[in-house]
Amino acid sequence: MTWPTWLPIRKDLAELSPYGAPQVRAEATLNTNENPFPPSSDLVKAIASAVEEVSLSLNRYPDRDAKALRADLAGYINALSATTFGAESVWVANGSNEIIQSLFLAFGESALGFTPSYSMHPLIAKVSGTSWFDGKRNPDFSFNIDAALSQIKVRRPRLTFLTTPNNPTGEVVPLSQIETLANVIGAFGGLLVVDEAYAEFSEEKSAVTLISKSPHLVVVRTMSKAFAFAGARVGYLLADPHVIDAMFLVRLPYHLSSLTQSAARVAISFKDELLAGVTKLVQGRNRVSEELIGLGLTVLPSSANFLLFTGFSQSAPQVWQKLLDHGVLIRDVGLSGFLRVTIGSDAENFQFIAALSEILAAEEKR
Ligand code: PMP
Repeated sequence: MTWPTWLPIRKDLAELSPYGAPQVRAEATLNTNENPFPPSSDLVKAIASAVEEVSLSLNRYPDRDAKALRADLAGYINALSATTFGAESVWVANGSNEIIQSLFLAFGESALGFTPSYSMHPLIAKVSGTSWFDGKRNPDFSFNIDAALSQIKVRRPRLTFLTTPNNPTGEVVPLSQIETLANVIGAFGGLLVVDEAYAEFSEEKSAVTLISKSPHLVVVRTMSKAFAFAGARVGYLLADPHVIDAMFLVRLPYHLSSLTQSAARVAISFKDELLAGVTKLVQGRNRVSEELIGLGLTVLPSSANFLLFTGFSQSAPQVWQKLLDHGVLIRDVGLSGFLRVTIGSDAENFQFIAALSEILAAEEKR
């Protein structure tokens, strides 16, 4: 970006551009790993009535510590993972991006992650004054535990980020490897941050089950994906209560509005209905993967609600644009020769595959 000379922008920010996938209109929006299923009318009504009730006291600040919502989130995780967390082990904020920012603010200085992964990790690190090291993966983007351990031992970062299932590849890291990482990181006093934004789409046990054994492990989750609640902006953290105490130091006062807190509590009470969508999306993912393979493409194994694929002969930006011309918006994640598609409704998936097969057929004819 170019800035006017009079603007006292921080030198380390001046070279950056704002993050964000293009928000353009499309018939099939499959670019930001959102959940395609809108809330049911029962859920909409329940949220509206909860919001009406809290609106009566909007002259007052919200519960600064979001105690009831944190207790509900603990209950949700305990039911999923057979854990025994209380509210003191949970922090909640405006999306998991804010959770990640708070982790940098509280523990930053140095952080390491394994690229390619969620591109906001290094960006939020930079904005919050943490130096970031890009750790290596295998050439096929799979996670290499031995290489990871040696990079961690050399760098000894305060924070090590591991996304599982990984975005944009969809790969899941086995729990045994997470335990090994947490032990090595714990030995020199670092924290392992496991970003489980897509955990509900995976069959692997959650890393939350290791927290009672290792206080050096913190797990970031979100209601944006499986819960189909991206618009409400609710992310959370499960960790040892001492980690949560540090979050209190860096949070802004009253950071989570009472409207958000009450809407999120209603959504959690509808968890069975909302999570039913996850099963449909996993089935959709398996179908779309087979169809992509049927088109002669290569698909990385995914345990999330998206697929990373390659094997087309045009450039990724060209295929991306042609799909958009067909009304289908997917994501060019900046990996040469690869594109990422979010699993949508059956109709959206169908439209994506139909458009792509047309584009590939036209490619062959040339
Ligand atoms: N972590 C990962 C791995 C993600 O892919 C995303 C969103 N794409 C986030 C965190 C942030 O999600 P949110 O802020 O909506 O909770």
